[in-house]
Amino acid sequence: MKNTSKLVLALTVIVSFAFIKPKHSEPKKINIVIDAGHGGTDFGATSDAITEKKIVEQVTKKIKSLNSNVVIHFTRNEDNFLSLNDRTAFINKLKPDLVLSLHVNTSLNNKTSGLEFYVAKETEFFEKSSKIAGELINKFATNKNLKVSNVKTGPFYILKKSEVPAVIVELGYLTNENDKKYLVDDNEQNKIAQSISEFISEMK
Ligand SMILES: [Zn+2]
Repeated sequence: MKNTSKLVLALTVIVSFAFIKPKHSEPKKINIVIDAGHGGTDFGATSDAITEKKIVEQVTKKIKSLNSNVVIHFTRNEDNFLSLNDRTAFINKLKPDLVLSLHVNTSLNNKTSGLEFYVAKETEFFEKSSKIAGELINKFATNKNLKVSNVKTGPFYILKKSEVPAVIVELGYLTNENDKKYLVDDNEQNKIAQSISEFISEMK
């Protein structure tokens, strides 16, 4: 081979390599489980005809209808009963990047209000879950009409038994008049679903 041919070949090889995409440029597929609390015979918190199971189901359906670049799995799509063990079995089989379990709160004090975010200390995912909960709180805090808590801890079954990061989001207090208004309001539910959808879409 002539020297010039060698040079042309070498250059061709270099140029070809320049067009091979590095593997790490592919986006990481994020899997999320949205767990709508209660369902079926388990109504959760109630106030007159309003039920926790229905509110979290409505918000879950709104999250589902929003476009997101992550894969979202649902422990329930309908008004059916699932035990806590059924839920964690589903989660631990899937091994998602995050579980968000949606609930509605009650208090004997009708002045207690706002969204609360819980993680469990009793798991190896405590730190990761706390970090995610903090970021989720910041996302909700951009909605000035909502009152949000700091990251709280509680030994809840779904948090302790999920073998992945998990956060319980209590969307508000059914026992507080102001919270009750936004919890059942279609537009306010849309905003809550939007915040959650945006948050999970931005996860890396
Ligand atoms: Zn609940």
